[in-house]
Amino acid sequence: MPTTATRLQVFQESVIRAMTRQANQYQSINLAQGFPDFDPPAALVEALEQAARGPFHQYSITWGAARFRQALAAKIGRFTGLAIDPEQHLVVTCGSTEAMMVAMMTACNPGDKVIVFSPFYENYAADAILSGAEPIYVSLRAPDFVFDAGELRRAFAQKPKAIVVCNPSNPSGKVFTRAELEFILQLAQEHDTFVLMDEVYEHIVYEPHRHIPFATLPGAEERTLTCGSLSKTYSITGWRLGYVLADARIIGQARKVHDFLTVGAAAPLQEAAVTALEFPPSYYIDLQAEYARKRDLFLGYLAKTGLPYTQPQGAYYTLVDISKLGRSFADDHAAAEWFTREIGVTGVPGSSFFREPEYRYLRFHFAKKDETLIQAGQRLLEKL
Ligand code: GLN
Repeated sequence: MPTTATRLQVFQESVIRAMTRQANQYQSINLAQGFPDFDPPAALVEALEQAARGPFHQYSITWGAARFRQALAAKIGRFTGLAIDPEQHLVVTCGSTEAMMVAMMTACNPGDKVIVFSPFYENYAADAILSGAEPIYVSLRAPDFVFDAGELRRAFAQKPKAIVVCNPSNPSGKVFTRAELEFILQLAQEHDTFVLMDEVYEHIVYEPHRHIPFATLPGAEERTLTCGSLSKTYSITGWRLGYVLADARIIGQARKVHDFLTVGAAAPLQEAAVTALEFPPSYYIDLQAEYARKRDLFLGYLAKTGLPYTQPQGAYYTLVDISKLGRSFADDHAAAEWFTREIGVTGVPGSSFFREPEYRYLRFHFAKKDETLIQAGQRLLEKL
């Protein structure tokens, strides 16, 4: 048999997705892969039913159905104040997973360096490697996940082609301050670096924190590729609808990558999702309140276990420190498996998010029905 590509030998299959399979195998509550177990808004499901009966069963325009892009541009414009031309500034992708890959391949040549903050969402390193680029890591230090300005400067001194920033951040829950974002922009401008923003959790931010879209910083537009998604905002992770937002010249190139990767996102789903993009402001206020409540509910149980955990400022993850558990495990994978088998609650081994040799965390998410979170919380309390 011929040998498969060497670039595939330097990264693993996704640990997040593997933990979902483990949870299913043991019928454990899956707080590993971040997706809701509750339904999307009813209006959206109705729109999908209608779209199924409409003339939307063939390819849409490769960079996104016109109506979807118009609604998306209007929605982003309402929240950011940016003037977005749906014909020039957007390419619609199969989820933000594809958006990130498109952004990386648009920005980077093989051999280029890409700064990635650690801890990081596991796709970024794989995206860099698949693009032929080399990730260089800058630590976000627990518990506040601040970066060291000197360390970031030294990383920029290596002349990276791009930096990846997830804001709000998965898995740390960090929401970058304006000052931090301005500092990143200043370095990116000094070194002529692209900024690849993953802003899929833009609408899941907890008081008093605020999400600042990077592209709104003065001077950021010409080097920022913002990756967004409808998955988390409208609880439709299976619809696989995402996008890249950038300057027209960048999007002109990004469309080519997207076209040859996937041709397009699902046409009937784009049609139906217009309904979501036209939801009133109250939808987003309610979403924030709902997630704040879920966060308090789940973290309330964690507090009672006595284990230290991170307090998310945004997104819906917490890193639980299991080193104080009074049990020793070979590593965090063994710990995660013990949680699945013995407790019936599945998380993700923290090491899959860290560049540093860090084995003391399991990541849990709380995008679940209250009853699921209560059941998970009770199981944790009983067994820990
Ligand atoms: N972003 C989610 C997580 O971190 C899931 C993403 C995925 O598996 N595609 O769990």
